[in-house]
Amino acid sequence: MSSLALLGGAPVRSKPFPPYITIGEAEKKAVSSVMDSGILSRYLGAWHPDFYGGPKVQEFEAAWATSHKAKYAISVNSATSGLIAAVGAAGVGPGDEVIVSPYSMCASATAPLIFNGVPIFADIDPDTYCLSPKSIRQKITSRTKAIIVVHIFGQAANMTEIMKIADEHGIIVIEDAAQAPFATHNGRMVGTLGQMGVFSLNYHKHIHTGEGGLVTTNSDEFAERLQLIRNHAEAVVSAKGVDNLINLIGFNFRLGEIEAAIGLCQLEKAPDLIRERCNNIQYLEEQLKGIPGIIVPTISDQSSHSRYVHILRYDEMATNVSRGRFVDALKAELPVTTLREGEGTLIRAGYTKPLYTLPLFQTQTGYGDVGCPFKCPHYGGSPDYQSASYPNVELAQRTIIIHELMRPPMTKADLDDVAAAFHKVSDHMHELQE
Ligand SMILES: *Cc1c(COP(=O)(O)O)cnc(C)c1O
Repeated sequence: MSSLALLGGAPVRSKPFPPYITIGEAEKKAVSSVMDSGILSRYLGAWHPDFYGGPKVQEFEAAWATSHKAKYAISVNSATSGLIAAVGAAGVGPGDEVIVSPYSMCASATAPLIFNGVPIFADIDPDTYCLSPKSIRQKITSRTKAIIVVHIFGQAANMTEIMKIADEHGIIVIEDAAQAPFATHNGRMVGTLGQMGVFSLNYHKHIHTGEGGLVTTNSDEFAERLQLIRNHAEAVVSAKGVDNLINLIGFNFRLGEIEAAIGLCQLEKAPDLIRERCNNIQYLEEQLKGIPGIIVPTISDQSSHSRYVHILRYDEMATNVSRGRFVDALKAELPVTTLREGEGTLIRAGYTKPLYTLPLFQTQTGYGDVGCPFKCPHYGGSPDYQSASYPNVELAQRTIIIHELMRPPMTKADLDDVAAAFHKVSDHMHELQE
């Protein structure tokens, strides 16, 4: 019998890894004081001082803006809402194209559709997994209105190059920083490098309020349009004296007072929580050095990484064992994580399927049954949703291993178990060769 757990041996560890819980006494107190106030949301969908929300919402926004050296932070009830509001504020409409990344969470690519804009995918950079400036340049047409850049997995995209290209063409850049709060590019925080930056506060992110999000901007005009789209623009514009009505059919994207109060506590914890992730990965990567077939990606020296997940690259040629089988062997050696037992061991081969493969894009079905916005008479372009056009996305999806076994409060002993599993599987690789 093999000693590998996948082949019947004893696993490296069966005791579950500790849960990632960032909510504590401070949050409980903050929630309690909102409860005592009796006002769980203070928004009014009308031109009135309460159009901007209640005291906790405004305090949270001011604190986030300060922490990011941004003029404005506009809270919303999710990053998905934030992306939609940002695309709307940018003025995207029928006939417009928005360049997006295919290697992201789906909302990064679907937000333009809400305003009848057509998502145009560009390829990614093979080192950062973020949009490649060169590919963006090739995708720009006279219809390109905006670019949604995703700082995927916690690392900033090459914003220096991307902003140069966008500024040359007068294109608005929206940063999806949902996975990269506090990451920097050339010393400046992501979310403040383009015209608008979107953050997520959902339960899976570095810090959270259950559900929630923010949009940062330094522009007075975008800030006003974001606030209007967040809160029933159509009922407000007349009394507020707003003339540009484009995309001002409003939504209710408002964050509650309880979530904002939690957000204030979480914002304070963010730098420490992120530092711990970085330290854990540094420690783990030291232990993984020299394992054949495991490549630790390098980080651009222009960027800091906030480590949403840990990415490794796997080289099948070096091991003669498929990535799927290698990951299965690792999973068999390691336990689940408490509170996420249903997901199995938090390590997997590849990320979510590239977004061009979604039925929405493959069948070009958006609004109604007449092909809008893809075949809309206002739109004369022909988007390319074929896998073969995005070789770096396909390569990444074939080669990366993603895991979350580096989040606080993983201890050195926990990380040693993770490393031990990699070494054990590697030492018995010949038993996995088919
Ligand atoms: C999580 C995530 C979102 C969406 O965040 P929500 O707050 O859940 O709407 C958007 N983009 C990326 C890259 C994400 O990881």
